[in-house]
Amino acid sequence: MLRGMADNPRWIQPGPRLLGSHGGDTAGPLVIGIGGIHGNEPAGVRALQQALEALRCSNAPFRGRFVGLAGNRAALARGRRYIHEDLNRLWFPERIQRLRDGHGSVDATSEEAEQRELLAALDTQLAQRNGPVVCLDLHTTSAAGSPFVVIGDTLLNRRFAFGLRAPVVLGLEERLESTILNYLGERGYVAVGFEGGQHDSPSAVTIHMAAIRSVLATAGCIRAKDFPAPHGGRDGSAAEATEGRAAPVVVEIRDHHVIREGDDFVMEPGFTNFQPVERGQLLARDRGGPVLARESGQILMPLYQGQGRDGFFLVRRVRPFWLRVAERLRRLRFERFLPVLPGVRRYADHPATLVVDPRIARWFVVELFHLLGFRKRRSREGKLIVSRRWHEPCVFEKLEPEA
Ligand SMILES: [Zn+2]
Repeated sequence: MLRGMADNPRWIQPGPRLLGSHGGDTAGPLVIGIGGIHGNEPAGVRALQQALEALRCSNAPFRGRFVGLAGNRAALARGRRYIHEDLNRLWFPERIQRLRDGHGSVDATSEEAEQRELLAALDTQLAQRNGPVVCLDLHTTSAAGSPFVVIGDTLLNRRFAFGLRAPVVLGLEERLESTILNYLGERGYVAVGFEGGQHDSPSAVTIHMAAIRSVLATAGCIRAKDFPAPHGGRDGSAAEATEGRAAPVVVEIRDHHVIREGDDFVMEPGFTNFQPVERGQLLARDRGGPVLARESGQILMPLYQGQGRDGFFLVRRVRPFWLRVAERLRRLRFERFLPVLPGVRRYADHPATLVVDPRIARWFVVELFHLLGFRKRRSREGKLIVSRRWHEPCVFEKLEPEA
C-alpha cells in the first residue's frame, strides 16, 4: 500500500525548501538543482532527493557542493502548476528588489511567499560558495515525447547541455521572460534547464537522476564511473531521446503561441514533443477559430493542461555547420568588431549591449547576433537591442581518478 503511494509520481509530501546538500568540505563548484518550480512537476524533486541519498550512501570522492531546492512547495502539495501566479515567470529585477526590500511585509500571493523563500535560499547558498556556480532547473511537460535541454546559447552552457545527450533547445529565453533560469543565467552562472519527459511518466525520475549525474560529472564534482547508470546497462545519460546519434540535435525556437485571457485555447489532441508539423496544419482552436502552424518545423511543449500561457512552440533544427561557425567566431571574439559595422552601435556604456538599426544592418540582423552569442532583448523605435550572454570567469576541471 505504502509502496504504491510512494511510487505515484503525483503524490508528494509538502517538504522542506532545502531538500538536502552534499559535500562542501572542499573548494569546488556549487551545483544547485531546483525541482518543482511548477507544482505539477514533482519528478525533479524526487530525483534530487534520490540523488542526494545516493551520494550520501557512497564513499566516492566529491568536489565542491551539491544542493537540492524545492520550487513551489504549496503548489507541489496540491499537484498544481501554481496557486495564484506562475512562479517561473516572476524573476524580473523590480520584483526581486521589492522582495529583498520588503522584509516583514505581507505576501499578496502564495507565489510571492514562495519566491521570497526560494530567493533567500539561493542567496544563502550563493553566499557560501567556494567555486563556480552551476544551476540545473528540472521540469516535465504536459505532452508526451523525448526529454530535452534548454539553455541560453553560450559555449559553456553548450558543454553542459551536450553532456546530457538529449536534444538542445536554443532561444527559449528570448520568448519566456523572467524565468528562474534567465535570472540565474544573467548573473553569469552556468544555467541549464532540463525537461525530463511527461509529468506522469514513470521514467521521469530516472531520467532526471541521469541528468543530475551528468551535470555533476561535467562540473567535476563526481567521476561518472562512480555512479552507475540509473538505466542498468545504459551509460546514464538521458540518451533515450537521442536514438544513438553521436552529436545531439540542436534546435532553435521559431514561433511561440501566447494564450491571452479568455482565448479558450484548446490544443488538438495527440501532439508530442518534436513531432514534425507542416505549415498551415491545424494545431489548436481558440475563440478566434483554428490556430494553424505559421511555418513547417517541429512542435514543442503543446499545452495539455489547464494552467499555463504558452500554447505551443515551433522549433527548427540548427545545422551542425552553423554551430561550428558560431564556436569559431566566438573563440576569435568576433563580437569586438560588431560596433564598426554600419547600423550597429554600443548601448550607452554597456560593453555587451548593442543597438542595431535593422534598416541599415539589413542582412545581418538577428541570425548573426545569435551566431555570436547575443540575445535579442527588445525592439525600441524600430531599433533592435541585443546583449551578449556572459559567464563570470570560471574553470571546470574533471575530477581525476585517484592515482
Ligand atoms: Zn515546468
